[in-house]
Amino acid sequence: MTINVIIKKAVERIKKENKLLTPDFYAEAFCKEAQIAGILVADCNQIDKHVNNLDKKYQEELKQYRIKTIDELLRFIVSKLNRMNPSNSAKLIESQSQLLKRILSVSGVLHNKEVSELSSKTADGLDNGADSTKLDNYRQLWMNFLTTYDDTFLQKLSKVTKVNSKDLKSTINGINLSGFSAEAKVEQSFTLASKLLIASLVPSIASSANDEIANVTDTLRKDPELLTSKSMAYEVKEAISLRIALDKASVKEMVQSLDIVLDKLSHQLISLIERTDTSTVEIQAIKKDLEKFDVEAVSDFSVAHKKLYSIAVNLEEQTAALGVDLKTHNKELQDMGNRISILEKELQEAKEASKEDFLTKLANRRALDEYLKIKEGEFERYGRDYSLVMFDIDLFKNVNDTYGHDAGDAVLAGFAKVLQSKARNVDVVGRFGGEEFLVILSNSELPGALIFAEKVRKSVQSTKFMYKGQRIDVTVSGGVSHRKQFSSQKESLDSADEQLYAAKDNGRNRVEPQA
Ligand code: GH3
Ligand code: MG
Ligand code: MG
Repeated sequence: MTINVIIKKAVERIKKENKLLTPDFYAEAFCKEAQIAGILVADCNQIDKHVNNLDKKYQEELKQYRIKTIDELLRFIVSKLNRMNPSNSAKLIESQSQLLKRILSVSGVLHNKEVSELSSKTADGLDNGADSTKLDNYRQLWMNFLTTYDDTFLQKLSKVTKVNSKDLKSTINGINLSGFSAEAKVEQSFTLASKLLIASLVPSIASSANDEIANVTDTLRKDPELLTSKSMAYEVKEAISLRIALDKASVKEMVQSLDIVLDKLSHQLISLIERTDTSTVEIQAIKKDLEKFDVEAVSDFSVAHKKLYSIAVNLEEQTAALGVDLKTHNKELQDMGNRISILEKELQEAKEASKEDFLTKLANRRALDEYLKIKEGEFERYGRDYSLVMFDIDLFKNVNDTYGHDAGDAVLAGFAKVLQSKARNVDVVGRFGGEEFLVILSNSELPGALIFAEKVRKSVQSTKFMYKGQRIDVTVSGGVSHRKQFSSQKESLDSADEQLYAAKDNGRNRVEPQA
């Protein structure tokens, strides 16, 4: 079968199936005919090719939609992609919810009890994160309201004037009493009209009642038919303007007092922000709210009041939260301060109690002083003799300068090991300070002490001190003194020191007095 025949059959099929000759239907029909003819057309399997690349879940879905054309496939994918943009939909939902809340706050101030109750109920629900069932409930309540809404008062009003249900304001302006002719004195109409008028004369905002208005109201109540008299009509009009003037004055007063409160609030807020250093996002939002808040533009006091109230509540919450925040932080700081001083004290105590030199692990200066006292006590009481050897590393400054302070430290630690390895258990080895070391040799006289000192010197000379792969050569000088030869420990110690400096003077890397 040739392609021409298939094309012809495809067109016939479209006609038979009562379809329009669109590219999509044509492609579908063509592919069917090609299949019947046993001809494989690459284009016909294009959708399958793409569909096979999709996730299994989508493939299942696609089967349900019976997608046949590339166009349909694209539409499916586009709709999926749109729905897969969660941040967009979240934003959209948020905006819708905000819009709904605004509408609710507007409907809440309408002078209809049911609407305002329903509005605040719905708004509360939204604020408290109502789920879809609850939202459906609210929707139902609104529907109920709409179906049972009683607007028959409009029909009653139509007896007095033409009612425009979309614009009650112009309806009220259009109330025309002169339309009541003497013949048409239907008592009911007068009573109705007078009731309406009396209601409109009661100041809705101003709190003070006015005598003049009260008089007019009284007269009307007693005799509604007076409405036909010209003088009464005049009085009513006067009373209405008076009532409007009273309300206006009252609103002005309220707005002014609002202004003062708002001013105070914003000052409070600003000082709060300045004081705390923590201008949280929320506070900034409240501030923005306050800035945006244009009292003059708010004609309805209750709207202004609600707005002000919510600002105040927010501010109060923020202040409280900040207060708590500050308090906890303060407490944390105090706690930390206390802990630090305790630690400092402990550290100081530990330092004082420590008898070990942190670097060389030998006895430190404090421990050496104690040992010296003990040894001196034993010398005095039991005649136990001892000798002192003072060592000082030669040209140690050069080590630091050449290899760095850490290398110097390593040499000090290395030297301490050499010292310890040469000393006996009964000897006391300690760091006298810096690169000076003191050894108390128990039961030793000068010759033995010199032998020990010389052993140390030689050992240091032959030791390769290593630091980070570098070899550091050092030598040490020593000064030796025998306690018995002096009248006090101090003299003996001074002598060891003098001998040490003699060794330095005599060329270093030696022990004095010369062995
Ligand atoms: P001399 O042969 O005359 O003793 O020369 P010196 O360079 O050893 O003497 P000097 O008193 O001029 O220098 C001693 C140096 O030892 C200076 C000081 O910085 C260093 N030093 C003291 N304590 C330490 C320490 O704990 N670690 C290190 N790395 N260096 C120390
Ligand atoms: Mg030195
Ligand atoms: Mg020194």
